[in-house]
Amino acid sequence: MRRLSSSIALLLLLSSTAPTFCFGADPVSTIPVDTAPAVKSVPEPILAEAPVIASEKPATGGAAGKLSYSSCNIEGNSVALTFDDGPHAQNTPRLLDILKQAGVKATFFVVGQNAVQYPDILKRIVAEGHELANHSYSHPLLASLSESSVHDQLDRTHEAVLKATGISMKIMRPPYGALSEPQRRMVHADFGYKTILWDVDPEDWKYRDAARVEREIVARARPGSIILSHDIHKTTIDAMPPAIEVLSAKGFKFVTVSELLALDKPTPPKAPNPIASATLKPAPKLAREDCERSEKPSKSEKIEKPKISAPKDAAPREVPREADSRNKSTSSSDESVAAKQKALTQEELRKKWLSGPK
Ligand SMILES: [Zn+2]
Repeated sequence: MRRLSSSIALLLLLSSTAPTFCFGADPVSTIPVDTAPAVKSVPEPILAEAPVIASEKPATGGAAGKLSYSSCNIEGNSVALTFDDGPHAQNTPRLLDILKQAGVKATFFVVGQNAVQYPDILKRIVAEGHELANHSYSHPLLASLSESSVHDQLDRTHEAVLKATGISMKIMRPPYGALSEPQRRMVHADFGYKTILWDVDPEDWKYRDAARVEREIVARARPGSIILSHDIHKTTIDAMPPAIEVLSAKGFKFVTVSELLALDKPTPPKAPNPIASATLKPAPKLAREDCERSEKPSKSEKIEKPKISAPKDAAPREVPREADSRNKSTSSSDESVAAKQKALTQEELRKKWLSGPK
């Protein structure tokens, strides 16, 4: 009884403190539920503006040595459309129709729970030339899980896709874009996965507005971009025909993520500017306090605490902040990331997820 009371108290506390943790403060909570029947398997947490933890490594030893990507350095005008959190019973097949008509190949980061439910959609994705990729089994915040739990999340999805399609996936995207560097190394060692983030985020999970989603994608896409979207939202699917049309008219070509990665070239190191170095004055010696401050991330480097609001439909979504996703890649150490995430444990996520309005 006492335990029950404390559980209720905790739930009440979580809901009453929601705005403090940015739970429930997300505009999504006021947006009507998708009209399409929800994919019931995954009640989706909405982590508004999750941190992008997996910072890119410099391309040492050639692009092939990189473990994670948020975009690619390429010649030409290729971009990769990526769709997370499906398959969705209605929206994914509709998207596939659109892509087929446009002759566009895309990449689907599927959630294992949904993959198990819709093996026929997985088969169609493969049959029509798209790429399948791993997006965990139940869309948890992997950064807060143990190594074995992360392995299990990826392994179950890997096996589900392999069983349904015969495809052994090559890439993964962590839910909320959050994966520590040791975890990135682990998923590469265990599965051979590269970690794929993004540089274009139309925030389609947040703004269920097709015109806005289209506008953001068109405005932000660059050669080598990895464009984040979610094939669980009707409005995202609505945005695709015009977005594809406009990008095509601008000369962009659509490839899968693995195809884009194959085009990636190491970024040459920046040559020192002789004029600047000649005129540089010696840096003033910093007081200890200044030194300490200088080691802290600048405002623009700060990783925002993830916000969570209750799911309105049934699929997970990534929601790294656009500023982060266009990041110049965060320089935070894993330790500092871990500290920032401490405030948002997996258990808190789960409780908030379960207790939020349906
Ligand atoms: Zn997701």
